[in-house]
Amino acid sequence: MVWGQPLKPRSPWLTTPPKRHPRPVLDFRWQPAHGGRHVISQDLLPGDEGHTFCGLDLQVPRQRNTKTEWLWPTCQQCYDTAKTRT
Ligand SMILES: [Zn+2]
Repeated sequence: MVWGQPLKPRSPWLTTPPKRHPRPVLDFRWQPAHGGRHVISQDLLPGDEGHTFCGLDLQVPRQRNTKTEWLWPTCQQCYDTAKTRT
C-alpha cells in the first residue's frame, strides 16, 4: 500500500454481498415405481406406503433403486404437479 493514495475500491464482486438464492423448499422427490419415474412426498420413508402425485399406490422401496429404474420414463402428470411446487 502506498501512503497518501486513496485505497482502491475493491472489485465489485468482493464488495457486493452475494445474492441470496433461496433454495425452493422441495417437499417431494422422484421415485421410480410402476415402470415410470413418479413424484412422491418427501415425508415418505422407506417401507412406507403412500401414493405418487398422479395417484398411484406405492410402497417406498427399502433398497436403493437401480440405475435402470432411474431411466424409466418420467410420469408426465407427476412432472406437471412437481413443476407447480417449485
Ligand atoms: Zn406419476
